[in-house]
Amino acid sequence: MSRPLLCLGVESTAHTFSCAVLEGPGRGGRIRVLSDVRRAYRPPDGAGIHPREAARHHAARSGEVLSECLSAAGVPAPGLDAVAYSAGPGLGPCLRVGAVVARAVSSMHSVPVYPVNHAVGHIDLGMALTGARDPLVLLVSGGHTMLLALVGGRWRVFGETLDITLGQLLDQFGRSLGFASPCGGRIEEMASRSSRCIPLPYSVRGNDVSFSGLLSAAKAAAAAPGAADDACRSLQETAFAMVAEASERALSFTGRGELLVAGGVAANARLSGMLRSACRRHRRAFLAVPPEYSGDCGSQIACTGILEASAGKAGAEVRDAFVRQSWRLDGVDVGYRG
Ligand code: AMP
Ligand code: MG
Repeated sequence: MSRPLLCLGVESTAHTFSCAVLEGPGRGGRIRVLSDVRRAYRPPDGAGIHPREAARHHAARSGEVLSECLSAAGVPAPGLDAVAYSAGPGLGPCLRVGAVVARAVSSMHSVPVYPVNHAVGHIDLGMALTGARDPLVLLVSGGHTMLLALVGGRWRVFGETLDITLGQLLDQFGRSLGFASPCGGRIEEMASRSSRCIPLPYSVRGNDVSFSGLLSAAKAAAAAPGAADDACRSLQETAFAMVAEASERALSFTGRGELLVAGGVAANARLSGMLRSACRRHRRAFLAVPPEYSGDCGSQIACTGILEASAGKAGAEVRDAFVRQSWRLDGVDVGYRG
């Protein structure tokens, strides 16, 4: 067997600049995280991500993150077999910072460069860390709310949001309460203090979900004096029940034996609890990405880089290593999955 590859992954789609070194595939296809260093841009309380400010943050931190990551892994840059970067989807100014770092490492040290779809990276890392084999994937993050299964070498969509994503729902609601983005963790904490549920709009259409009406109603409910905790709980219960219903239907339709939840919102214990009970009812395995790897990180990008390079895919020419702000994951060939 050939020796495992060492891949540097660079993530910079939105709030986080991160570099990670992963090694693999080893025995049984195992992929190991050797290092994963992250710095997050924090917008002012109540405000969303300002793309140029976030890009400025990433550019200022990129040097220290890269050198910390390489030294924590004990791998000098010339010892890398591949460098992968998030080529999209994401915020243009932020994506360009990561692409510049990857191109610099590639051309200075003659390391092949791999442009990676950020959403595919979430799924690949989730599968590598949980041992999922052929799952239905619920991808819930700041940029995605989708149900996906692999058919014919591509991730096909079996349900998605018709408007904002689950992460945007939580962040926009949290910002209306004056919190700093990302707000999901704070909303989860406040929801755990409440035991009351306020009725809010529940909108599942076919196997798609729509959150915009729910957002407006939750903001209105939170405006009543002393109602913030109850509004957080009600928002979570309603939104998570919607994605759980769509997931149950997609599990039956696709016949998959496993449900894998990935993306930043996968860190939420209440969401996992609801999905776990749905899987128990349908006798399917429930798998969740460990919370420390559910949000954006260099590991997800390095993981896809390793899978592509070890399947024999050639790196891109440095001049073709650009970014694509809109890049749907159902347009990506994942031939390395057979
Ligand atoms: P990502 O884009 O994958 O980094 O995911 C970021 C999203 O995950 C943001 O919308 C966060 O608010 C959300 N998030 C992070 N932690 C939690 C949590 N504990 N519960 C719900 N959402 C979360
Ligand atoms: Mg993400």
